Amino acid sequence: ATPTALLAGTGRGARMGVLIRGPEALERAHRIDTVVMDKTGTVTTGRMSVAGMLDSSGQTMDDESAAQLLAVGAALEAGSEHPIGRAVVEDARRAGLGVPPVTGFEALAGAGVRAEMEGYTCLAGNPALMHDAGIDIPEALGEALEEAASQGRTVVMVAASGQLLGALLVADTVRDTSAAAISRLRRAGVRTVLLTGDNEGAARHVAAQVGIDEVHADVRPADKLSVIEDLQGQGRRVAMIGDGVNDAAALAGADLGVSMGSGTDVAIAASDITLTRGDLGLAVDALGLSRATLRTIH
Ligand code: ADP
Ligand code: MG
Repeated sequence: ATPTALLAGTGRGARMGVLIRGPEALERAHRIDTVVMDKTGTVTTGRMSVAGMLDSSGQTMDDESAAQLLAVGAALEAGSEHPIGRAVVEDARRAGLGVPPVTGFEALAGAGVRAEMEGYTCLAGNPALMHDAGIDIPEALGEALEEAASQGRTVVMVAASGQLLGALLVADTVRDTSAAAISRLRRAGVRTVLLTGDNEGAARHVAAQVGIDEVHADVRPADKLSVIEDLQGQGRRVAMIGDGVNDAAALAGADLGVSMGSGTDVAIAASDITLTRGDLGLAVDALGLSRATLRTIH
């Protein structure tokens, strides 16, 4: 009877928009007491846009300098598959800006991008990337960036040949279904955790908006799995929800991996459950389905 009920459960899941990879996944889902979520593209839509620009002293730029900075940013990000990079390229295109050619493009996971432009080595990425490259961030700019981060902005700093040109402030939007899904989890006694490579300010801003209990920010892609393992080491049964290549190891290492259907192929392949719509409520439905199915068995 057990396998039959589980199979019926996975069938019911499919009709709800939750693709469950096999009966064991449904079985494992009913023990979950902690749900860890990626931020960008999971709790948020991941459709980002440039909401502002600052010069290297933290001042708002005039239109001409802002257009130049956006064009350089777009040139460096042209080869990027990251939602941040795509947003910068798309905004430059919409503004009708000419984007200079680059060579030697390199994506730096969890940090930004590097490319050569007119013979200069250029970088676009987070403050940690600038720090690693030995580029100083003037105090006034640092303060302005902290302020932007606390309002939920992701910071993309642009530098050429070791000189800071300025920073793009990138905005994302929380999915309108996220807060309701997270409050259902909390009512069911499930601990909620945000796990992101983005800055602390942006992470806390999103967590507060949707009511997430615990935040791990500035986590490099290689360290996302360690956060899952730490929680497991505390005796927690952990589900991970994510969409990116950088979430794949955490999805595979969690007791239950849940991917967004809009996510990367790598994330989908590493997960036990895929949500066919970008709605975290479907993940909560899946946990509920699993509990109901297992109840009929026991
Ligand atoms: P997340 O966990 O939010 O999916 P990632 O690990 O992909 O984040 O990236 C972490 C951080 O690295 C981003 O918030 C951003 O600051 C920086 N970053 C990554 N890729 C890029 C890029 N192409 N351009 C600029 N910044 C980037
Ligand atoms: Mg993501």
